[in-house]
Amino acid sequence: MARLVLKFGGTSVGDVDRIKNVARRVKAVVEQGNEVAVVVSAMSGATNQLVKWTTEVARLHDTREYDTVVATGEQVTIGLLAIALQEIGVPARSWMGWQVPIRTDGAHGSARIESVDTSEIEKGMKQGQVAVVAGFQGIGPDGRVTTLGRGGSDTSAVALAAAMKAERCDIYTDVDGVYTTDPRIVAKARKLDKITYEEMLEMASLGAKVLQTRSVELAMNHGVRVQVLSSFSDAPGTLVVDEDEIVEKEIVSGIAYSRDEAKITLRAVKDRPGVAATVFGALADAQINVDMIVQNVSADGEATDITFTVTRAQIDRALKVLSDLKGKLDYEKVLSDPAVTKVSIIGVGMRSHAGVAQRMFQALADKGINIQVISTSEIKVSVLIAEEYTELALRSLHTAYGLDAA
Ligand code: ASP
Ligand code: MG
Repeated sequence: MARLVLKFGGTSVGDVDRIKNVARRVKAVVEQGNEVAVVVSAMSGATNQLVKWTTEVARLHDTREYDTVVATGEQVTIGLLAIALQEIGVPARSWMGWQVPIRTDGAHGSARIESVDTSEIEKGMKQGQVAVVAGFQGIGPDGRVTTLGRGGSDTSAVALAAAMKAERCDIYTDVDGVYTTDPRIVAKARKLDKITYEEMLEMASLGAKVLQTRSVELAMNHGVRVQVLSSFSDAPGTLVVDEDEIVEKEIVSGIAYSRDEAKITLRAVKDRPGVAATVFGALADAQINVDMIVQNVSADGEATDITFTVTRAQIDRALKVLSDLKGKLDYEKVLSDPAVTKVSIIGVGMRSHAGVAQRMFQALADKGINIQVISTSEIKVSVLIAEEYTELALRSLHTAYGLDAA
């Protein structure tokens, strides 16, 4: 007998029939003799609709009331799933975040979980009652409902699993696992049996939207074993685990990409101490996240170029910040390009192998793809390329690292 947390995403509970299907799956797990807590998302599309309504009433609104509205999607699905379980003879009850309670900080709209007290729900679980818990929500220090940011139900599930020391947290979704790269682009992408927390963290933050990044962080910090699997098939999923559990480490496990990038270049900026501090300080003050940065060596010791990337949504604000700096900072002009993609190779095996990045550069060169910016970390190499080459780059790299399915 094991204690398990099962999480079902929006498409898995997208309508009443699907909720009944989830109930049957939960029943099967209960009948294997497990103690089960289930975390659910709102029906797919429901949260988007709720968010839309809040902005229609007022573009700028009280975020506490935003949370009051958007947290309701999950209230519907926990109640319906509890009923569906009871209908097929499985004792169950629903739990809102505040009833558990799942305590968060007061950052409405993107709150962080501070503590989860599972003693109440465990009482029922020990008696065979399934706890059906609302994902995405908690209660803030002021006693008001909070939400965890979009996709936050994954984080709710992992936090619950950590608090009740569950054997595993199974995340049921509409894909059957984590792939070596986006299977919609690369037909030969393979499902991974296992992936390390660190690799998953990179994949998640680089745009593979299977799990909310924060949930992976939490799982890594608390050693929660996570499995990603499909609620529509019986195929085994992908296990997210500690590095020690993976015997044969691939040099590159996955290739991620993000089209949500924009490139900005400051031409002929004075090559003096304090210039980078001025530029990036002003961007930080405007809450603009900068990702990749390159600064060229100045040939004459006078002027140089600085290139960096921001998210596409922030490009206009970033350009405004730079033009406001014109009095303080001497530069020739600003160039910007929103049509760029960041492609990254990820793998813990990189730590112990040489020549990994070189293979990437060669594969891209062979296809005539120009690399605009490079950044690296211990387990990742990222390059910025023109957006039109995204598909070609992904396919070539997938082959170059031997990841293609047979
Ligand atoms: N329903 C919320 C959302 O759509 C939370 C989740 O599904 O994870 O963002
Ligand atoms: Mg999700």
